[in-house]
Amino acid sequence: MHVTAIIAAGGRGLRFGAVEPKQLLRVDGRPILERSVTAFVTHPAVHEVIVALPAELAADPPAYLRDAIKPLHVVAGGARRQDSVANAFGVASKESDIIVVHDAARPFVTADVIARTIAAARETGAAVAAVAASDTVKRARREGGAVVAETLPRETIFLAQTPQAFRREVLADALKVADAATDEASLAERAGHSVQIVDGDPTNIKITTPDDLPIAEAIARRGAPARTGRAGTGYDLHRLVPGRPLVLGGVTIPADRGALGHSDADVVCHAVTDAILGAACLGDIGRHFPDSEPKWKGASSLDLLSRAVALVRAQGLGVGNVDVTVILEAPKIRDHIDAMRANVAKAIGLDVARVSIKGKTNEGVDAIGRGDAIAAHAVALIRVI
Ligand code: MG
Repeated sequence: MHVTAIIAAGGRGLRFGAVEPKQLLRVDGRPILERSVTAFVTHPAVHEVIVALPAELAADPPAYLRDAIKPLHVVAGGARRQDSVANAFGVASKESDIIVVHDAARPFVTADVIARTIAAARETGAAVAAVAASDTVKRARREGGAVVAETLPRETIFLAQTPQAFRREVLADALKVADAATDEASLAERAGHSVQIVDGDPTNIKITTPDDLPIAEAIARRGAPARTGRAGTGYDLHRLVPGRPLVLGGVTIPADRGALGHSDADVVCHAVTDAILGAACLGDIGRHFPDSEPKWKGASSLDLLSRAVALVRAQGLGVGNVDVTVILEAPKIRDHIDAMRANVAKAIGLDVARVSIKGKTNEGVDAIGRGDAIAAHAVALIRVI
């Protein structure tokens, strides 16, 4: 089954009132249009994407429409929404069995909603994503102001979203309907086709007026990380030399060799710091606290860890847990692990039950096994707070 996605972005957003076309406005740093297009370009059920843009934008499309990972075509929109969709339909691959149409102004469409709509259209011919009304719905008549004519039975009311998907011949019929319509499903209805309703998503909002932007920002920031968390890994290795203290997790451990480095060379703190920064896509410890800068020379690594956590917190993210493996031939660190966990937990601001530290040797193999180096691996999970 070959599927073409049409992204309708031909409007000028007159209700929005901004100078820039609303589909180019950024939500949490990413343009609305780019978010909508990416949802379809990256969807496994979609084979090609056609974007209908206002003529001036179609002539000079944004870069993210030029180097997509799937076939992507840009067409100029028409006077009405259905004219834009018809222009796009005209260049759809001849192989396409299903055409799925989506409003560019709905940037939070999920992969599940796209999959459901396509599957229902394949089975029934036409499908629309919609959410059941939660408000009581009144039909009004105009008598000066609006007067309630009747209260509609709520269980029969659904609010239509996009995507809306159609077998090719059904959309062809729908686009022959001459009357103007606000979506393709109503054209298909008027052409005599039955349209299946599938579950939309309450977060699949349409950004229509500036009032929608704060809601869109909130959805963008709280979406995926809130549901799944974000993992990061960290790794660090230092040479072991005589005459240096061995500091691990802020604990100085009696040893005849210590880790060489500008700071206290605490591999536990360094690996945990990198894992936390990595989970937030904030780079690494060397970027924020370069040892070439005098102010970080000899710095306590527990202090740097706290500073990294503050950077992550500033993004609205908090640490869920960390797990560390220290690789060291000698001495045994078993008796110091609880003190190390307490220090690391305090530096992060985390319950000690969420900080795990384990020790391992390298069985005499390689530089660590010979006692010439110490290493640590860390994993951190962070999430929206
Ligand atoms: Mg280090």
